[in-house]
Amino acid sequence: MTTDSTADLSQRVATMSESATLAVSAKAKELRAAGEDVIGFGAGEPDFDTPDHVVEAAQAACADPTLHRYSPAGGMPVLKQAIVDATAAHTGLEADPSEVVIANGGKHALYNVFQALLDPGDAVLIPAPYWTSYPEQVALAGGEPIAVPTTLDQGYKVTPEQLEAARTPRTKAVVFNSPNNPTGAVHSPAEIAAIGRWAAQAGLWVIADEIYEHLVYGDAEFASLPVVAPEAAPRTVVVSGVAKTFAMTGWRVGWTIAPAPLSKAMGTMQSHATSNVANVSQKAALAALTGPMDQVTTMRETYERRRHVAHEKLNAIAGITCPLPEGAFYLYPSVEGLLGQTIGGRTVRTSGELCEALLETAKVAMVPGEAFGAPGHMRISYALDEQQMITGLDRVAEVLG
Ligand code: GLU
Repeated sequence: MTTDSTADLSQRVATMSESATLAVSAKAKELRAAGEDVIGFGAGEPDFDTPDHVVEAAQAACADPTLHRYSPAGGMPVLKQAIVDATAAHTGLEADPSEVVIANGGKHALYNVFQALLDPGDAVLIPAPYWTSYPEQVALAGGEPIAVPTTLDQGYKVTPEQLEAARTPRTKAVVFNSPNNPTGAVHSPAEIAAIGRWAAQAGLWVIADEIYEHLVYGDAEFASLPVVAPEAAPRTVVVSGVAKTFAMTGWRVGWTIAPAPLSKAMGTMQSHATSNVANVSQKAALAALTGPMDQVTTMRETYERRRHVAHEKLNAIAGITCPLPEGAFYLYPSVEGLLGQTIGGRTVRTSGELCEALLETAKVAMVPGEAFGAPGHMRISYALDEQQMITGLDRVAEVLG
Protein backbone atom coordinates (compact mmCIF):
# COMPACT_ATOMS: atom_id res chain seq x y z
CA MET A 1 0.00 0.00 0.00
CA THR A 2 2.99 2.31 -0.26
CA THR A 3 3.01 2.93 -4.02
CA ASP A 4 2.45 6.53 -4.98
CA SER A 5 -0.43 5.83 -7.33
CA THR A 6 -2.03 9.27 -7.53
CA ALA A 7 -1.09 9.37 -11.22
CA ASP A 8 -3.51 6.51 -11.71
CA LEU A 9 -6.52 8.39 -10.38
CA SER A 10 -9.33 9.10 -12.80
CA GLN A 11 -9.43 12.59 -14.29
CA ARG A 12 -12.81 13.03 -12.67
CA VAL A 13 -11.44 12.89 -9.15
CA ALA A 14 -7.84 13.96 -9.62
CA THR A 15 -8.59 17.68 -9.50
CA MET A 16 -11.40 17.50 -6.99
CA SER A 17 -10.86 19.08 -3.60
CA GLU A 18 -12.42 17.98 -0.34
CA SER A 19 -15.71 19.60 0.68
CA ALA A 20 -14.66 22.83 2.41
CA THR A 21 -17.66 22.83 4.72
CA LEU A 22 -16.88 19.36 6.00
CA ALA A 23 -13.14 20.08 6.07
CA VAL A 24 -13.55 23.17 8.25
CA SER A 25 -15.81 21.38 10.67
CA ALA A 26 -13.47 18.36 10.79
CA LYS A 27 -10.55 20.69 11.50
CA ALA A 28 -12.45 22.36 14.35
CA LYS A 29 -13.35 18.97 15.84
CA GLU A 30 -9.76 17.77 15.51
CA LEU A 31 -8.38 20.85 17.25
CA ARG A 32 -10.95 20.51 20.03
CA ALA A 33 -10.04 16.83 20.47
CA ALA A 34 -6.41 17.95 20.79
CA GLY A 35 -7.43 20.18 23.68
CA GLU A 36 -7.70 23.50 21.83
CA ASP A 37 -10.60 25.74 22.70
CA VAL A 38 -11.85 26.13 19.13
CA ILE A 39 -15.42 27.22 18.40
CA GLY A 40 -16.85 25.77 15.20
CA PHE A 41 -18.97 27.99 12.95
CA GLY A 42 -18.22 25.64 10.06
CA ALA A 43 -20.61 22.93 8.99
CA GLY A 44 -24.30 23.60 8.85
CA GLU A 45 -25.10 21.05 11.47
CA PRO A 46 -27.77 21.62 14.13
CA ASP A 47 -26.37 21.54 17.65
CA PHE A 48 -29.62 20.05 18.98
CA ASP A 49 -30.09 16.38 19.74
CA THR A 50 -32.37 14.45 17.43
CA PRO A 51 -35.85 14.43 19.09
CA ASP A 52 -36.36 11.57 21.57
CA HIS A 53 -39.31 9.97 19.78
CA VAL A 54 -37.16 9.66 16.65
CA VAL A 55 -34.31 8.03 18.55
CA GLU A 56 -36.77 5.65 20.25
CA ALA A 57 -38.21 4.62 16.87
CA ALA A 58 -34.67 3.88 15.67
CA GLN A 59 -33.96 1.83 18.79
CA ALA A 60 -37.08 -0.22 18.18
CA ALA A 61 -36.05 -0.68 14.54
CA CYS A 62 -32.67 -2.05 15.64
CA ALA A 63 -34.46 -4.77 17.56
CA ASP A 64 -36.74 -5.76 14.68
CA PRO A 65 -35.15 -8.64 12.75
CA THR A 66 -37.27 -7.93 9.66
CA LEU A 67 -35.28 -4.73 9.34
CA HIS A 68 -31.95 -6.52 9.39
CA ARG A 69 -32.40 -7.34 5.71
CA TYR A 70 -32.33 -5.45 2.44
CA SER A 71 -35.28 -3.24 1.71
CA PRO A 72 -36.20 -1.72 -1.69
CA ALA A 73 -33.19 0.13 -3.12
CA GLY A 74 -35.11 3.36 -3.69
CA GLY A 75 -36.60 3.48 -0.22
CA MET A 76 -39.23 1.86 2.01
CA PRO A 77 -42.75 2.32 0.61
CA VAL A 78 -44.02 3.46 4.01
CA LEU A 79 -41.40 6.22 4.16
CA LYS A 80 -42.07 7.29 0.57
CA GLN A 81 -45.73 7.70 1.48
CA ALA A 82 -44.81 9.69 4.58
CA ILE A 83 -42.57 11.96 2.48
CA VAL A 84 -45.39 12.54 0.02
CA ASP A 85 -47.84 13.31 2.84
CA ALA A 86 -45.47 15.57 4.79
CA THR A 87 -44.49 17.45 1.64
CA ALA A 88 -48.11 17.97 0.59
CA ALA A 89 -48.99 19.22 4.06
CA HIS A 90 -46.05 21.60 4.33
CA THR A 91 -45.52 22.87 0.78
CA GLY A 92 -48.67 21.93 -1.12
CA LEU A 93 -46.74 19.80 -3.61
CA GLU A 94 -48.82 16.82 -4.67
CA ALA A 95 -46.71 13.82 -5.64
CA ASP A 96 -46.98 10.08 -5.97
CA PRO A 97 -44.74 7.70 -3.98
CA SER A 98 -43.38 6.42 -7.33
CA GLU A 99 -41.84 9.87 -7.75
CA VAL A 100 -39.77 9.59 -4.55
CA VAL A 101 -36.27 8.15 -4.23
CA ILE A 102 -34.77 7.97 -0.75
CA ALA A 103 -31.03 8.52 -0.69
CA ASN A 104 -28.18 8.70 1.78
CA GLY A 105 -28.80 12.35 2.65
CA GLY A 106 -29.63 15.37 0.52
CA LYS A 107 -26.11 15.34 -0.88
CA HIS A 108 -26.49 11.83 -2.27
CA ALA A 109 -29.95 12.72 -3.60
CA LEU A 110 -28.36 15.59 -5.57
CA TYR A 111 -25.59 13.32 -6.77
CA ASN A 112 -28.21 10.93 -8.15
CA VAL A 113 -29.93 13.78 -9.99
CA PHE A 114 -26.81 15.03 -11.76
CA GLN A 115 -25.73 11.50 -12.64
CA ALA A 116 -29.13 10.63 -14.06
CA LEU A 117 -29.70 13.89 -15.95
CA LEU A 118 -26.38 15.02 -17.38
CA ASP A 119 -24.40 13.94 -20.40
CA PRO A 120 -20.85 15.15 -21.02
CA GLY A 121 -20.88 18.82 -21.98
CA ASP A 122 -24.32 19.63 -20.56
CA ALA A 123 -24.17 22.96 -18.77
CA VAL A 124 -25.85 23.62 -15.43
CA LEU A 125 -26.50 27.15 -14.18
CA ILE A 126 -25.64 27.59 -10.52
CA PRO A 127 -26.45 30.95 -8.91
CA ALA A 128 -23.52 32.08 -6.76
CA PRO A 129 -22.86 32.17 -3.86
CA TYR A 130 -23.66 28.46 -3.99
CA TRP A 131 -23.31 25.43 -1.77
CA THR A 132 -19.85 24.09 -2.30
CA SER A 133 -20.82 20.62 -3.57
CA TYR A 134 -23.05 21.61 -6.51
CA PRO A 135 -20.29 22.39 -9.03
CA GLU A 136 -18.22 19.40 -7.99
CA GLN A 137 -21.18 17.07 -8.39
CA VAL A 138 -22.05 18.53 -11.79
CA ALA A 139 -18.45 18.10 -12.94
CA LEU A 140 -18.35 14.57 -11.57
CA ALA A 141 -21.31 13.77 -13.81
CA GLY A 142 -19.44 15.15 -16.83
CA GLY A 143 -21.45 18.38 -16.86
CA GLU A 144 -20.17 21.93 -16.89
CA PRO A 145 -21.07 24.06 -13.88
CA ILE A 146 -21.75 27.68 -14.85
CA ALA A 147 -21.77 30.11 -11.93
CA VAL A 148 -24.25 32.97 -12.18
CA PRO A 149 -23.03 35.61 -9.72
CA THR A 150 -25.45 37.56 -7.54
CA THR A 151 -24.63 40.51 -5.31
CA LEU A 152 -25.28 41.71 -1.80
CA ASP A 153 -27.22 44.64 -3.29
CA GLN A 154 -29.76 42.27 -4.79
CA GLY A 155 -29.93 40.29 -1.55
CA TYR A 156 -28.15 37.43 -3.33
CA LYS A 157 -31.39 36.59 -5.12
CA VAL A 158 -30.86 35.53 -8.70
CA THR A 159 -33.29 36.85 -11.33
CA PRO A 160 -34.63 35.21 -14.50
CA GLU A 161 -32.81 37.92 -16.48
CA GLN A 162 -29.45 36.94 -15.01
CA LEU A 163 -30.14 33.27 -15.67
CA GLU A 164 -31.25 33.99 -19.22
CA ALA A 165 -28.04 35.94 -19.86
CA ALA A 166 -26.02 32.88 -18.83
CA ARG A 167 -28.06 30.38 -20.84
CA THR A 168 -26.61 28.79 -23.99
CA PRO A 169 -27.84 25.97 -26.24
CA ARG A 170 -25.87 23.59 -24.01
CA THR A 171 -27.71 24.58 -20.83
CA LYS A 172 -29.71 21.66 -19.52
CA ALA A 173 -30.58 22.60 -15.96
CA VAL A 174 -30.51 25.23 -13.26
CA VAL A 175 -29.93 24.70 -9.56
CA PHE A 176 -32.23 26.74 -7.35
CA ASN A 177 -31.76 26.82 -3.58
CA SER A 178 -34.07 28.85 -1.35
CA PRO A 179 -33.71 29.22 1.64
CA ASN A 180 -30.13 29.49 0.56
CA ASN A 181 -26.90 28.02 1.80
CA PRO A 182 -24.61 29.98 2.26
CA THR A 183 -26.39 33.37 2.16
CA GLY A 184 -29.61 32.68 4.06
CA ALA A 185 -31.52 34.47 1.29
CA VAL A 186 -35.16 33.49 0.80
CA HIS A 187 -36.85 34.25 -2.52
CA SER A 188 -40.47 35.37 -2.31
CA PRO A 189 -43.14 33.12 -3.85
CA ALA A 190 -43.50 35.59 -6.76
CA GLU A 191 -39.74 35.58 -7.39
CA ILE A 192 -39.68 31.79 -7.36
CA ALA A 193 -42.66 31.64 -9.69
CA ALA A 194 -40.84 33.91 -12.14
CA ILE A 195 -37.77 31.67 -12.13
CA GLY A 196 -39.92 28.58 -12.62
CA ARG A 197 -41.77 30.23 -15.53
CA TRP A 198 -38.50 31.20 -17.17
CA ALA A 199 -37.12 27.66 -16.78
CA ALA A 200 -40.27 26.14 -18.24
CA GLN A 201 -40.15 28.48 -21.23
CA ALA A 202 -36.50 27.68 -21.77
CA GLY A 203 -37.19 23.95 -21.50
CA LEU A 204 -34.69 23.54 -18.65
CA TRP A 205 -34.68 21.19 -15.73
CA VAL A 206 -34.82 22.79 -12.28
CA ILE A 207 -33.08 21.16 -9.39
CA ALA A 208 -34.87 22.79 -6.48
CA ASP A 209 -32.87 22.19 -3.33
CA GLU A 210 -35.49 22.79 -0.63
CA ILE A 211 -33.62 21.19 2.27
CA TYR A 212 -34.10 24.33 4.45
CA GLU A 213 -37.86 24.41 3.80
CA HIS A 214 -38.75 24.65 7.50
CA LEU A 215 -36.18 27.29 8.41
CA VAL A 216 -37.54 30.70 7.46
CA TYR A 217 -37.73 33.71 9.77
CA GLY A 218 -39.58 36.97 10.24
CA ASP A 219 -41.87 37.77 7.33
CA ALA A 220 -40.10 35.43 4.91
CA GLU A 221 -42.26 32.74 3.41
CA PHE A 222 -41.15 29.39 2.03
CA ALA A 223 -42.51 28.40 -1.36
CA SER A 224 -41.83 25.24 -3.30
CA LEU A 225 -40.88 25.97 -6.91
CA PRO A 226 -43.12 23.41 -8.66
CA VAL A 227 -46.07 24.61 -6.56
CA VAL A 228 -45.79 28.29 -7.44
CA ALA A 229 -44.61 27.50 -10.98
CA PRO A 230 -46.66 24.43 -11.99
CA GLU A 231 -45.55 24.85 -15.61
CA ALA A 232 -42.02 23.95 -14.47
CA ALA A 233 -43.14 20.84 -12.55
CA PRO A 234 -42.68 18.32 -15.41
CA ARG A 235 -38.97 19.12 -15.39
CA THR A 236 -38.41 19.83 -11.71
CA VAL A 237 -36.67 17.76 -9.08
CA VAL A 238 -37.30 18.73 -5.47
CA VAL A 239 -34.53 17.72 -3.09
CA SER A 240 -35.02 17.63 0.67
CA GLY A 241 -34.29 15.55 3.74
CA VAL A 242 -34.57 15.29 7.51
CA ALA A 243 -31.06 16.52 8.39
CA LYS A 244 -31.64 20.24 8.91
CA THR A 245 -35.28 20.24 10.01
CA PHE A 246 -35.02 17.49 12.63
CA ALA A 247 -31.34 17.76 13.68
CA MET A 248 -30.57 14.47 11.95
CA THR A 249 -27.41 15.15 9.92
CA GLY A 250 -25.72 11.91 10.94
CA TRP A 251 -28.67 9.67 10.10
CA ARG A 252 -28.27 10.30 6.35
CA VAL A 253 -31.76 10.38 4.97
CA GLY A 254 -32.60 12.66 2.06
CA TRP A 255 -34.79 12.31 -1.00
CA THR A 256 -35.81 13.50 -4.40
CA ILE A 257 -39.31 14.08 -5.69
CA ALA A 258 -39.06 13.95 -9.46
CA PRO A 259 -41.07 12.90 -12.51
CA ALA A 260 -41.48 9.11 -12.53
CA PRO A 261 -39.06 8.25 -15.40
CA LEU A 262 -36.23 10.16 -13.74
CA SER A 263 -37.11 8.66 -10.35
CA LYS A 264 -37.09 5.19 -11.85
CA ALA A 265 -33.66 5.82 -13.37
CA MET A 266 -32.27 7.09 -10.08
CA GLY A 267 -33.73 4.09 -8.25
CA THR A 268 -32.13 1.76 -10.77
CA MET A 269 -28.81 3.54 -10.38
CA GLN A 270 -29.07 3.26 -6.63
CA SER A 271 -29.77 -0.47 -6.95
CA HIS A 272 -26.25 -0.80 -8.36
CA ALA A 273 -24.52 1.86 -6.31
CA THR A 274 -25.71 1.81 -2.72
CA SER A 275 -28.92 -0.25 -2.34
CA ASN A 276 -31.24 0.96 0.40
CA VAL A 277 -30.46 3.62 2.96
CA ALA A 278 -30.00 1.94 6.36
CA ASN A 279 -33.39 0.69 7.52
CA VAL A 280 -32.88 2.05 11.02
CA SER A 281 -32.34 5.52 9.60
CA GLN A 282 -35.39 5.21 7.38
CA LYS A 283 -37.51 4.25 10.38
CA ALA A 284 -36.09 7.22 12.28
CA ALA A 285 -37.02 9.51 9.37
CA LEU A 286 -40.50 7.99 9.35
CA ALA A 287 -40.94 8.85 13.01
CA ALA A 288 -39.67 12.37 12.36
CA LEU A 289 -42.05 13.02 9.47
CA THR A 290 -45.11 11.54 11.12
CA GLY A 291 -44.48 12.71 14.69
CA PRO A 292 -44.95 15.94 16.63
CA MET A 293 -43.36 19.10 15.26
CA ASP A 294 -43.03 21.02 18.53
CA GLN A 295 -39.26 20.48 18.80
CA VAL A 296 -38.84 21.64 15.21
CA THR A 297 -40.67 24.82 16.17
CA THR A 298 -38.46 25.30 19.21
CA MET A 299 -35.31 24.82 17.15
CA ARG A 300 -36.53 27.26 14.53
CA GLU A 301 -37.32 29.87 17.17
CA THR A 302 -33.89 29.40 18.68
CA TYR A 303 -32.16 29.89 15.32
CA GLU A 304 -34.28 32.96 14.75
CA ARG A 305 -33.10 34.50 18.01
CA ARG A 306 -29.48 33.59 17.37
CA ARG A 307 -29.55 35.10 13.90
CA HIS A 308 -30.38 38.50 15.39
CA VAL A 309 -27.70 38.24 18.07
CA ALA A 310 -25.03 37.16 15.59
CA HIS A 311 -26.10 39.69 12.97
CA GLU A 312 -25.80 42.54 15.45
CA LYS A 313 -22.42 41.42 16.75
CA LEU A 314 -20.96 41.03 13.27
CA ASN A 315 -22.17 44.38 12.01
CA ALA A 316 -20.61 46.05 15.04
CA ILE A 317 -17.18 45.00 13.73
CA ALA A 318 -15.56 47.58 11.45
CA GLY A 319 -14.87 46.08 8.02
CA ILE A 320 -17.72 43.55 8.15
CA THR A 321 -21.01 44.11 6.33
CA CYS A 322 -23.61 41.52 7.15
CA PRO A 323 -27.13 41.34 5.71
CA LEU A 324 -29.83 39.83 7.94
CA PRO A 325 -30.49 36.34 6.60
CA GLU A 326 -34.10 35.26 6.23
CA GLY A 327 -33.66 31.51 6.26
CA ALA A 328 -31.42 28.46 6.81
CA PHE A 329 -28.87 28.98 9.61
CA TYR A 330 -26.03 30.91 8.05
CA LEU A 331 -24.78 34.46 7.95
CA TYR A 332 -22.75 35.47 4.95
CA PRO A 333 -21.02 38.76 5.65
CA SER A 334 -18.76 40.58 3.26
CA VAL A 335 -15.29 40.89 4.76
CA GLU A 336 -13.84 42.96 1.91
CA GLY A 337 -13.29 45.76 4.39
CA LEU A 338 -10.84 43.62 6.35
CA LEU A 339 -8.65 42.52 3.48
CA GLY A 340 -5.19 44.01 3.52
CA GLN A 341 -5.18 44.30 7.31
CA THR A 342 -2.65 42.63 9.55
CA ILE A 343 -4.21 40.05 11.84
CA GLY A 344 -2.16 37.97 14.24
CA GLY A 345 1.06 39.20 12.66
CA ARG A 346 0.09 38.38 9.07
CA THR A 347 -1.42 40.41 6.29
CA VAL A 348 -4.64 38.85 5.12
CA ARG A 349 -5.29 39.35 1.43
CA THR A 350 -8.20 36.95 0.87
CA SER A 351 -11.16 35.64 2.82
CA GLY A 352 -9.38 32.29 2.87
CA GLU A 353 -6.40 33.85 4.61
CA LEU A 354 -8.72 35.73 6.95
CA CYS A 355 -10.39 32.47 8.03
CA GLU A 356 -6.97 30.93 8.63
CA ALA A 357 -5.90 33.93 10.71
CA LEU A 358 -9.11 33.85 12.73
CA LEU A 359 -8.67 30.14 13.42
CA GLU A 360 -5.16 30.79 14.72
CA THR A 361 -5.84 33.93 16.70
CA ALA A 362 -9.50 33.92 17.73
CA LYS A 363 -9.80 30.13 17.72
CA VAL A 364 -12.95 30.19 15.61
CA ALA A 365 -13.58 28.06 12.52
CA MET A 366 -15.48 29.77 9.69
CA VAL A 367 -15.77 28.80 6.03
CA PRO A 368 -14.21 31.21 3.50
CA GLY A 369 -16.32 32.53 0.63
CA GLU A 370 -13.94 30.91 -1.86
CA ALA A 371 -15.76 27.62 -1.13
CA PHE A 372 -19.05 29.13 -2.28
CA GLY A 373 -17.89 30.83 -5.45
CA ALA A 374 -17.90 34.27 -3.81
CA PRO A 375 -14.56 35.24 -2.27
CA GLY A 376 -14.43 38.24 0.02
CA HIS A 377 -16.99 36.70 2.35
CA MET A 378 -17.18 34.18 5.18
CA ARG A 379 -19.95 31.77 6.02
CA ILE A 380 -20.86 31.65 9.68
CA SER A 381 -23.25 28.94 10.84
CA TYR A 382 -25.36 29.82 13.85
CA ALA A 383 -26.39 26.22 14.40
CA LEU A 384 -24.15 26.00 17.44
CA ASP A 385 -24.61 26.49 21.16
CA GLU A 386 -25.69 30.08 21.74
CA GLN A 387 -23.19 30.85 24.48
CA GLN A 388 -20.40 29.42 22.33
CA MET A 389 -21.62 31.52 19.44
CA ILE A 390 -21.50 34.67 21.53
CA THR A 391 -18.07 33.85 22.93
CA GLY A 392 -16.75 33.09 19.45
CA LEU A 393 -18.05 36.29 17.91
CA ASP A 394 -16.71 38.31 20.85
CA ARG A 395 -13.32 36.77 20.21
CA VAL A 396 -13.50 37.75 16.55
CA ALA A 397 -14.44 41.32 17.57
CA GLU A 398 -11.50 41.44 19.95
CA VAL A 399 -8.98 40.18 17.40
CA LEU A 400 -10.28 42.54 14.72
CA GLY A 401 -10.95 45.46 17.05
N1 GLU B 1 -24.74 21.23 4.06
C1 GLU B 1 -24.00 21.52 5.25
C2 GLU B 1 -23.06 22.65 5.03
O1 GLU B 1 -23.08 23.30 4.01
C3 GLU B 1 -23.33 20.30 5.76
C4 GLU B 1 -21.95 20.03 5.27
C5 GLU B 1 -21.96 19.62 3.86
O2 GLU B 1 -22.48 18.57 3.57
O3 GLU B 1 -21.46 20.40 3.06
O4 GLU B 1 -22.29 22.93 5.90
